[in-house]
Amino acid sequence: MYNSIVVHYGEIGTKGKNRSFFEKKLVENIKWNLKNDYISVKRLYGRIVIDLKENSNKKILKEKLGNIFGITNFSFAVKSSLDLEEIKKIALNLIPEKTSSFRINSSRSNKNFKYSSLEMNNMLGDYIINNKNLKVDLTNPEITIYIEITENNSFIYNEKIKSLGGLPVGVSGKVVSLISGGIDSPVSSYYLMKRGCSVIYVHFYNSTINTKQSMEKVVDIVNVLSKYQFKTKLYLVPFENIQKEIIKEINSRYRMIIYKRFMLMIAEKILENENAQVLVTGDAVASVASQTLENLDAIYKSVKKPVLAPLIGFDKEEIIQIAKKIKTFELSILPYEDCCSFMIAEHPATKSDPEEIKKIESKLSKNILIEKAIKNAIVRKILN
Ligand code: ATP
Ligand code: MG
Repeated sequence: MYNSIVVHYGEIGTKGKNRSFFEKKLVENIKWNLKNDYISVKRLYGRIVIDLKENSNKKILKEKLGNIFGITNFSFAVKSSLDLEEIKKIALNLIPEKTSSFRINSSRSNKNFKYSSLEMNNMLGDYIINNKNLKVDLTNPEITIYIEITENNSFIYNEKIKSLGGLPVGVSGKVVSLISGGIDSPVSSYYLMKRGCSVIYVHFYNSTINTKQSMEKVVDIVNVLSKYQFKTKLYLVPFENIQKEIIKEINSRYRMIIYKRFMLMIAEKILENENAQVLVTGDAVASVASQTLENLDAIYKSVKKPVLAPLIGFDKEEIIQIAKKIKTFELSILPYEDCCSFMIAEHPATKSDPEEIKKIESKLSKNILIEKAIKNAIVRKILN
């Protein structure tokens, strides 16, 4: 019965001059995600209309459109002509058996259409009452029949399916996200995508403690995240040489902070090569010893670029809820060896001073270590 999908977007609609750029990006993302499962995807007066193939799978389409940032809601619709009799029949057909109350919600972007929205509501309401044993309920109806009138067509549907909101991935620039294999960093990457950023991932591993399996786990997590951003890259950066040097030269109380500083400094180099703008971590204030304000200060001062930590004010339980929703949780809780906790003090420093840390760090041949790590990084292209 359905031959099209009407896609609505919220925030993009308000972006003035950028509006057409946003809309084009959204169309592009929809096309990519649906592969060839459509006849056309077109912008149409403040909405996007997808014309469907006859045999398209509603369940798959629903799942895919539910993962696209920028879409507020979408509806499987019957696309028809502007003929009122035709519209009436379709509307009647869209009311399931055993419905007891309904309302009509008409809107029109075609202001030349001969009836106003209110007249449409009344005419269609009367028609349905005359043909089915139903009552109108404007405040809490069992079903709402929506009718959208555009220049050349009408779209009639009975359900709005919620999607993710946010902005289309790709409209807000590029970020480099440090991803650990834990619960938090995949969620923080998700939030950057939600605001329209493309995310490039960097993971550090120590081949003397990390098994191949735990590296594949990170690849799997990025694969799940690629549901929201269809094309991305994952840098797998060897960290053992750097850790060896740090362990040799630096008191165990400070190692964790210096590990993190090196991670950020390497990520910043990748950012430059990738023309990205900011770094992203899964830090949350005081969730672990390395994330006191003093330590975050000492860590973030290792780089010039801003470090964004979208989970900074989240409780662990809140982060877990989102990790479950975005389907990274099950992977994140699989066992893995965390290179950050390798050979550190049982009670690491919680109040480190950036100047002091810099002095301690100067024992290491920083630039050589960083360059070597980047040279030996493996880059995986990830396509959904
Ligand atoms: P997560 O759940 O993301 O691991 P966490 O609460 O366990 O976070 P840490 O392990 O201290 O805290 O890591 C803080 C942040 O540092 C991570 O969210 C991530 O952005 C970055 N990070 C930690 N380890 C790595 C790693 N091996 N590779 C890349 N980034 C890392
Ligand atoms: Mg961790």
